[in-house]
Amino acid sequence: MTETASLIAEATRTALDEARAAATLADLREVRVRALGRKAPMSRVRAQMGSLSEDERREIGRLLNEARGMIESALAAREGELAAREQEETLARDRIDVSAPGRRRDVGHPHPLTLMADRIVDIFIGMGFRVAEGPEVETDWYNFQALNIPPDHPARSMQDTMHVEGTDLLMRTHTSPVQVRAMQAQDPPIYVVVPGRVYRRDPFDATHSPVFQQIEGLAVDKGLSFADLKGTLAAFAREMFGPRQRVRFRPSYFQFTEPSAEVDVLCMNCEGAGCSACGRSGWIEIMGAGSVHPNVLKAVGWDPEVWSGFAFGLGVERVAMRALGVRDIRWFYENDQRFLAGFHA
Ligand SMILES: [Zn+2]
Repeated sequence: MTETASLIAEATRTALDEARAAATLADLREVRVRALGRKAPMSRVRAQMGSLSEDERREIGRLLNEARGMIESALAAREGELAAREQEETLARDRIDVSAPGRRRDVGHPHPLTLMADRIVDIFIGMGFRVAEGPEVETDWYNFQALNIPPDHPARSMQDTMHVEGTDLLMRTHTSPVQVRAMQAQDPPIYVVVPGRVYRRDPFDATHSPVFQQIEGLAVDKGLSFADLKGTLAAFAREMFGPRQRVRFRPSYFQFTEPSAEVDVLCMNCEGAGCSACGRSGWIEIMGAGSVHPNVLKAVGWDPEVWSGFAFGLGVERVAMRALGVRDIRWFYENDQRFLAGFHA
C-alpha cells in the first residue's frame, strides 16, 4: 500500500518534470504516452487494483485520480506555452517585410548600335524625312548600275562584294540601292532616310567588320542645291553632337553624286582644338555626301532638268565609335554584357 503510493508519487513527479522540459508539441505528446498510456506505471497499478481490499482500492483510486489530474493540467499548461511559441516562430519566419527593397530584375535593353541608329534616324524624321527600307540581297543593277557604276568600273573593286553562290545576286555593299527602289516606288519629290545592314569582304578587326550598318539619306525636289545639303547636315550635327557643332566639307568622289564631299564634324573629344583622337586636326570624318548624279535620276526616269537633290550616307558603327569613345568595332558584336550594359538608354 505505502509502496504503491510512493510509486504513484514518483511517477507523478517524473511526468511533471518531463512535461515542463518538453521542447516541442511532439515531445509533449510522448510525455503524455509515457505518463498516462497503457504501459505507464500508473496504468499497471490500476490494472492490479482487483486484488486489493475495498479500503485500499478507494485510497489508491483517489491517489491515481489526483495524480492524473495534476499531470493533465501540467501537460495542458505546457501545451499552451509551446503552441504560442511555435505560432510566433511561424509568424516570424513567414513575415513579409513590405518596406524591404525589391529584388532588382534585369530587363533587356536595346543594343548601343540600335540606340545610335534610332537617334540618327529620329533627327532626320524631325526634319521631314520618312524611313525607307529594302532587301539585303540585291541585284547588280540596283547595287551598282542604277547608281552610275557600270560593269567593270574600277569603283566596284573598292567595295569588295560578296556574291550569292550560284546566282546573279549579291549582298548589298551599301544602302544606296534603296534610294533607287524608293524613287521607283513613287513620284518626286522624295525625302527618305534608309537604315540597314550592308556587307563587304572586309576582315573582322578593330576597325573593320564584314557586316555593318549604314544610314543613307536622299532628298529630290525642285530647286534643291548643294547649299540645302550643307544646311541639312549642319542641322543634323548640332542635333546629334551639340549646339556648337559645325560641319566641314572636303571634295571627294562618289559615282552616284556630283559634286561629292567627305563631311567632317568638330572632334567630340577636343571640340576642334586638336587631340590624339582626331589626329591633331580638330575634325573627324562622319559621312560622305553630294548632289544626286543626273544619271541616277535618269535611271528611274526622272528628268534631271526638272528635279535635283542630294544624298548622304554614314556608317553607324563608325559614328558610334567616335561619339561613344569605343576603340574596337568588334566590341559591338561580341555581346559582352559588361560592355553593352554601359549604354542603357
Ligand atoms: Zn580632337
